[in-house]
Amino acid sequence: MTDSNLEFKTDPNKKSRADSKADSKTHSKTDTRIQSSKLPKKEDFSEWYHELLMTAEVVDNRYPVKGMCVWFPFGFAIRKNVYGIIRELLDPDHQETQFPLLIPENEFMKEAQHIKGFEDEVYWVTSGGTSPLDVKLALRPTSETAIYPMFKLWIRSHADLPLRIYQIVNTFRYETKHTRPLIRVREITSFKEAHTAHATWEDAAAQVETAIERYSEFYRRLAVPFLVSRRPAWDKFPGADYTIALDVVMPDGRTLQAGTAHHLGSTFARTYEITYEAENGEQKLISQTCYGISERCIAALVSVHGDERGLVLPWEVAPTQVVIVPILLGDKEKVLEVSRNLLEKLEAACVRARLDTSDERPGAKFYKWEMKGVPIRLEVGPRDIEKGVVTLARRDGVKKAVPLKDLLTAIACEANELQAVLYERAKQFRDGKIKEVTSIDEAIEQTEGGVALVPWCGNEECGHELEDRVAANILGEPQGQSFPEAACAVCGRVSTGRTYMARQY
Ligand SMILES: [Zn+2]
Repeated sequence: MTDSNLEFKTDPNKKSRADSKADSKTHSKTDTRIQSSKLPKKEDFSEWYHELLMTAEVVDNRYPVKGMCVWFPFGFAIRKNVYGIIRELLDPDHQETQFPLLIPENEFMKEAQHIKGFEDEVYWVTSGGTSPLDVKLALRPTSETAIYPMFKLWIRSHADLPLRIYQIVNTFRYETKHTRPLIRVREITSFKEAHTAHATWEDAAAQVETAIERYSEFYRRLAVPFLVSRRPAWDKFPGADYTIALDVVMPDGRTLQAGTAHHLGSTFARTYEITYEAENGEQKLISQTCYGISERCIAALVSVHGDERGLVLPWEVAPTQVVIVPILLGDKEKVLEVSRNLLEKLEAACVRARLDTSDERPGAKFYKWEMKGVPIRLEVGPRDIEKGVVTLARRDGVKKAVPLKDLLTAIACEANELQAVLYERAKQFRDGKIKEVTSIDEAIEQTEGGVALVPWCGNEECGHELEDRVAANILGEPQGQSFPEAACAVCGRVSTGRTYMARQY
């Protein structure tokens, strides 16, 4: 799979590593200049990640504003499929909507805690043409202060509750740290933010649990395992009562916060005077939640499954699910005819299939479609046709001959199997990266390339000391698990408390 004259639209200055690894086999008289090659090793995660996003054409980071990337059409097709799952999971009881990008300063500045959390990251629009604006406008860093003044107008009585809306929009944050495509950006292009309003605090708490369940289902469908924890008080969303977060363990052992759900209590309701008339006629403050997922979900998807040959995409989100590669030897017309029939059959079964009839060598085609993460490749050659079979190659390396007559069943079966293999492999990787420790020294060692589970009494001072001495972040208390008593790694007090610690993206 190395003989190719493929030209990916990557950085023109980038040197091809291919020449040294060239497979000198030539399948024709054509002069095949070998350019295809493996990506950097996945152990060199940062380099691998950047090259993969460019070579597989997910996002292009050459746009001339720091921290702002362009989705390649192929990457955007992945995004559409991934966000299609989110919509499918939310639509039964949420309504999709869209609010303006600009938020007037007076509304934005109303909620003091919230503002404090975002003040260093906000972009401001200060003039319209050449005239300075009377009221400055913020580019939303998140939309609470855009949405809640409208909630005040929309919510009248208990009959209007619960109210659940969401939007998928871009938001802006002036990141001063090192930016990284899809992970730390100044324009978050694909922020799915849901906002809900409820009659009671308990109803809102139940909604936070529902949100985490939906997100868990979402990541299961991406075959991406995660950790769920309750963020410590000093790391919760500005203005929230509490925050539950999903973190994905990345290939280098650092964690990526890949989804959060916040119980907002009545903090914003008080600020924006959002009340409803209860059944007894009394005016009451609503309770609220908000929860979000950004394109970090795609960073996680790409990073967890990808390998040195490119993307590995689960069936459900792959823009191309099956590629047919005709092996044009012998009776070429026959091979093409069988291939075209196959394509029709797959398309009729609603499979996103492609027939690659380009002039490239089969090896080059294999390389190209592997880079794109296509779950299943079908090779159609004259000898296979004689035997009534095609060769089915799964992106995880499994290869077998499949009878043409059973092909659709076989594909469905292999797609499920691939999903199961990817998920299992990813779970093993995650579990291998988590270790229970008992002391600060062990926590330091473990967080160098993984996640430490540390005994912590829950005291805030101990928490800050842990973060300082371990030089890693407290992700928080694991949810849905219980632990035996152990001595706090800082003060020695015995409790059943634990926290995950990791270096975070
Ligand atoms: Zn302690």
